[in-house]
Amino acid sequence: MIQKIGVIGAGQMGNGIAHVCAMNGFDVRLVDANAEALPKALATIGGNMDRQIKKGAMTQAAKDAALAKISTGTDFALFADSDLVIEAATENEAVKREIFKKLCPNLKKSALIASNTSSISITRLGASTDRPAQFMGMHFMNPVPVMQLVELIRGIATSNETYELVKELTAKLGKTSATAEDFPAFIVNRILLPMINEAVYTLYEGVGSVESIDIAMKLGTNHPMGPLELADFIGLDTCLAVMHVLYDGLSDSKYRPCPLLVKYVEAGWLGRKTKRGFYDYSGPKPVPTR
Ligand code: NAD
Repeated sequence: MIQKIGVIGAGQMGNGIAHVCAMNGFDVRLVDANAEALPKALATIGGNMDRQIKKGAMTQAAKDAALAKISTGTDFALFADSDLVIEAATENEAVKREIFKKLCPNLKKSALIASNTSSISITRLGASTDRPAQFMGMHFMNPVPVMQLVELIRGIATSNETYELVKELTAKLGKTSATAEDFPAFIVNRILLPMINEAVYTLYEGVGSVESIDIAMKLGTNHPMGPLELADFIGLDTCLAVMHVLYDGLSDSKYRPCPLLVKYVEAGWLGRKTKRGFYDYSGPKPVPTR
């Protein structure tokens, strides 16, 4: 049974995963290589819980209890008694492989590992660990406390027991799972990211401005957010990384990343997290940058 959960990466996804696990009574250890990310993550979790309190979805006592269940640090030794470690670090295969190499010697034998990767092969990541049968994809959506779906991905070596335990945990976290086969970007991002990339091409080719593209898709297809607004929300580096995985993994030119997306990432304009992407977030209201 899974009771103690480790989370690697205290960025936007890691803090959301820690939030939801703690809120549902699990002990959480949150580790990031960058010590400065940890107090920021705790502040974000506290702020998001305050929002849930305002909406009547949480009590102050439940918030205090949940926050008390989260401990943080920079050392994987914190995971010595974790039953499951969920990796939610930067979307870069070399970074993730290095993490698993350092992580495995710190874990008990029975511990499971899940990756929140948006696109990287679960089979390949699993093979880089000492426990491919106890490894699988657990792809949460952003923002984690709000979004209902968790995509579950089995690598070729993932055991039925691992899959069932993680599926059961997903339900205990109050989420609904959808199971995807281990192909590049799985289901959600295989469909979503080419749409976002096409929106960037539409901007690049001057078919529409940032505002027209987002208004057109919001009102024309009833999406809650326009594709460029959504790209800023996801992080343009993550969007580009997923397009690379699709392009390389499926060897099809239809997945080529738009040069404008590449340029924004090269400029360090990564969306909301850097306060600039397709919109500028430095003022009280987002303003289109093109
Ligand atoms: P982020 O940039 O907000 O956070 C990544 C965190 O990982 C940072 O705090 C960084 O310091 C930390 N990190 C980097 N290397 C590390 C290491 N070696 N050890 C420990 N921590 C390390 O990114 P994010 O948006 O939270 O994405 C994290 C993962 O979740 C990625 O795999 C991404 O594809 C996936 N994901 C993202 C979204 C989204 O909408 N942003 C949705 C679903 C899944």
